[in-house]
Amino acid sequence: MKKISAKLKFWGVRGSIPVPGNDFACYGGNTSCVELRCGETIIVLDAGTGIRPLGLSYLKEFGDKPVHFNILISHSHWDHLQGFPFLSHIYIPGNSVTFYGGHTVNTLEKLVMTQLSEEFHPKQLYELSADIKFVELKKNNFSINDVQISFTHLLHPGLSLGYRICYKNHVFAYVTDNEILADEKMAHHNWENIGSIIKGADVVIHDAQYTDEEYKSKLGWGHSSIENVVKICNKFRVKNLYAFHHDPLHTDKDIKKMIKNARKLANKELKVYAAREGVELLFY
Ligand SMILES: [Zn+2]
Ligand SMILES: [Zn+2]
Repeated sequence: MKKISAKLKFWGVRGSIPVPGNDFACYGGNTSCVELRCGETIIVLDAGTGIRPLGLSYLKEFGDKPVHFNILISHSHWDHLQGFPFLSHIYIPGNSVTFYGGHTVNTLEKLVMTQLSEEFHPKQLYELSADIKFVELKKNNFSINDVQISFTHLLHPGLSLGYRICYKNHVFAYVTDNEILADEKMAHHNWENIGSIIKGADVVIHDAQYTDEEYKSKLGWGHSSIENVVKICNKFRVKNLYAFHHDPLHTDKDIKKMIKNARKLANKELKVYAAREGVELLFY
């Protein structure tokens, strides 16, 4: 049997706010969290509410064995950070977390410290049992064990980072909370910048919160229409696109319809899917 080299699993795919309920049961209601395992290295992309069920599954898988999480944060908007206080492992000694993220006026450490201040949460950051570290990403191209990572700044209010993650012969790109401008000629810099992160990738996870129709009234909100995302993925020869950061108003039915329409725009080499909670992709 061929050995699994990397594994990617969606734990939270929703944008903005969690949405429980029957209308969202297929794609899921938890906010941004994607697990990427490269050999023994555990990378978690964002700490939305999906990180809670991820932690619960790790308790089952690893038992008492200490776990080291490398959490890459796209940005500090609430839907990308709100699950962290509910990751079980931070209350168990022996576990450790390294956060990676950008620096605006505040450091990521200060923002997480605020999240875990007594006004918002009963336990404070420095009372946690796990060892928590913060790495501010100033220099591009860094590695976590044998995983190579580069990043770019996205088009989103505040600071948002998109990541390109290379492991062995696999290339993954995580680009959420990003606005792809419609007109490639007008938005040359925008397209080339995102192109540097997604080009030739096996898997691109990209914000596709709106339809073109909805996007008309959402210019400047920092999210993309699925049509524009397919166009840029066509141009940069992406193999598999996973539409991500689903709008909290979009029901399962709406998302299915969006994907059906988006597939009509994709070229032959590009496969388009909607990111769905619980889906696991294996790479050999
Ligand atoms: Zn978001
Ligand atoms: Zn955001």
